[in-house]
Amino acid sequence: MAIDISKALRSPEERFPFTYELSLPAQDILGEMVHFDPVKMEGDFYMAEGKLYLQGQLTTVAHSRCSKCLNPADYPVNIDFHEVFYNARDKNLDEEFLPDDLDRFAYDGPQLAVDHLALTLVVLDLPIRFLCQEDCKGIEGATEYYLGTDTDQNELKMQRPFSALQQLLNKDQEV
Ligand SMILES: [Zn+2]
Repeated sequence: MAIDISKALRSPEERFPFTYELSLPAQDILGEMVHFDPVKMEGDFYMAEGKLYLQGQLTTVAHSRCSKCLNPADYPVNIDFHEVFYNARDKNLDEEFLPDDLDRFAYDGPQLAVDHLALTLVVLDLPIRFLCQEDCKGIEGATEYYLGTDTDQNELKMQRPFSALQQLLNKDQEV
């Protein structure tokens, strides 16, 4: 899937609106799987001096789990983007571009592939840790463990984080 930029190629300097939807594969972010709602990109594009300018908003919702309590946690992604794509067939294209860069920063014909761009934008926007809410207190037993002093009680409470983990593992297996 790609954005059809043929109109812009034929008519430089003129702006054309676009909306584009794609789905991103789940990503392993620091050992946590993050899933995404369908990604919507909308904005406009135009050609100027042989380069394609694409700008607009990208929105989706990322789903993972709270780093403190392990409950499901969402993160709304809203990104303003302004990207420039070079013509991949331009022989004067800077040779410093790596193939990976070309994948993201070049257009090759009338179909502009933006999935790689979208993935990069979204991943860079994600928080290091997801939280179910700003002031999540974490797993109850675990918090009390650090505050408490009684050894027997502590041993009991220490097991609760693991039981929470176990429940999550069981849930995963059912899927
Ligand atoms: Zn939480």
